[in-house]
Amino acid sequence: MLAHLGGVRSYTLSDLRVPSLIVASDIPPSEMALAPRDKILGFATDLGGRTSHTAIMARARGIPAVVGLKQAMRAAREGAVALVDGTRGVAIFDPEPEVLQEHLRKQRHYQELAANLAALKDQACVTLDGRRVHLGANLEVPEELPSLLENGAEGVGLYRTEFFYLSRATLPTEEAQYNAYRTIAEAMAPHPVVIRTLDVGGDKFASYLGTPIERNPFLGMRGLRFSLKREDIFRTQLRAILRATAHGQVKVMFPMVVGLEDFRRARAIVEQVRQDLRREKVAMAERVPLGVMVETPAAVFAIDLLASESDFVSIGTNDLIQYALAVDRGNEAIAEVYEPLHPAVLRAVRAVVEAGQRRPIPVGICGEMAGEPLYAVLLLGLGLTDFSVSPFLVPEIKTILRASTYAEASGLAERCLALPTPAEVRAVVTEYMSRRFPQHFAA
Ligand code: PEP
Ligand code: MG
Repeated sequence: MLAHLGGVRSYTLSDLRVPSLIVASDIPPSEMALAPRDKILGFATDLGGRTSHTAIMARARGIPAVVGLKQAMRAAREGAVALVDGTRGVAIFDPEPEVLQEHLRKQRHYQELAANLAALKDQACVTLDGRRVHLGANLEVPEELPSLLENGAEGVGLYRTEFFYLSRATLPTEEAQYNAYRTIAEAMAPHPVVIRTLDVGGDKFASYLGTPIERNPFLGMRGLRFSLKREDIFRTQLRAILRATAHGQVKVMFPMVVGLEDFRRARAIVEQVRQDLRREKVAMAERVPLGVMVETPAAVFAIDLLASESDFVSIGTNDLIQYALAVDRGNEAIAEVYEPLHPAVLRAVRAVVEAGQRRPIPVGICGEMAGEPLYAVLLLGLGLTDFSVSPFLVPEIKTILRASTYAEASGLAERCLALPTPAEVRAVVTEYMSRRFPQHFAA
């Protein structure tokens, strides 16, 4: 609106004509989702955290990125030479020639590693002592499908459907959603596709959805709460999903569940929609598994109740860490407080796994923590059997898990669970991983 009033032309990333490195204060996730991949060499922002949705989108699309730099805008000059090193979290402007050469060498090393890992595409994700891990990938926009297939993902462990809503100016129709869900289910068959119902709010907004302006959006009208308030939107999405179940192995998962009450309400609406479709003689799968995302402390404390009525659960560590440690996942000023290896987080994961084993139902993990190679053996040892990670990370996680034993991983997890501080856990995990996998964790 300001651009219109001031008579200036506003630009988006879609206007890029020359492949460029982008430096910005912040980039909204909806814009990152639509940016032309071939024009973005990388980006650096002053705001944001590793698990903010812009960073997640960048990872999913294979874009080198560093967020939360605080000072990048001040240091950047248009047209200058710059580099971003996402592995170390730095951006360097006007680098010295030898620094540039060193990073070009590093880039070639990563490209070679990626090419070697791609050879694993058709190998099963099974540990040396025979524990089978289901390794799927997260999906935000259908354009990512080829990279899931190329990287050998065993289906979609988390489809963040909200990006389908955020990348347009009006509410998507049932037909448009059905076509998208069907395409994904067919492309992934016989592997499963977990479709998460709309998770707007927090850092994901679309003006036409009428999400309110809130003082604490991450504690507000988010995820399933929004869907239960706007049943019209929810029912349309569920119709599209249930119709897509005829074309693959589709499961449904609800975001931001805090207890059985909201899960039951959602399940009842699914049942009503299913009956409507049956009356209309629409083809559907006989049974559609319903799952719960465990991303609030409430869901962890009440996991026995949730596990008793759901068909599977998946731990959304991005939010679980933010709510358990009371640290905004997108706030760069307190990024060091956002600690996946905090004893509270490890205990939460363990408690959820144990509740799943008691039932038994599958317990997955789909937050960014799952795709962090450094944590792979620890998570295996904590007992997780379903990983869903950013597509480009599938080969590396698979390589690590295939070269591990569950017995040794359990030992590592037990040691870590007994440690009192994140720093001690990190030291143990880093020592173990760099000894066992020196080519992945070179100092
Ligand atoms: C999570 O919270 O870990 C998760 C996977 O969902 P999102 O990142 O979309 O909030
Ligand atoms: Mg979440």
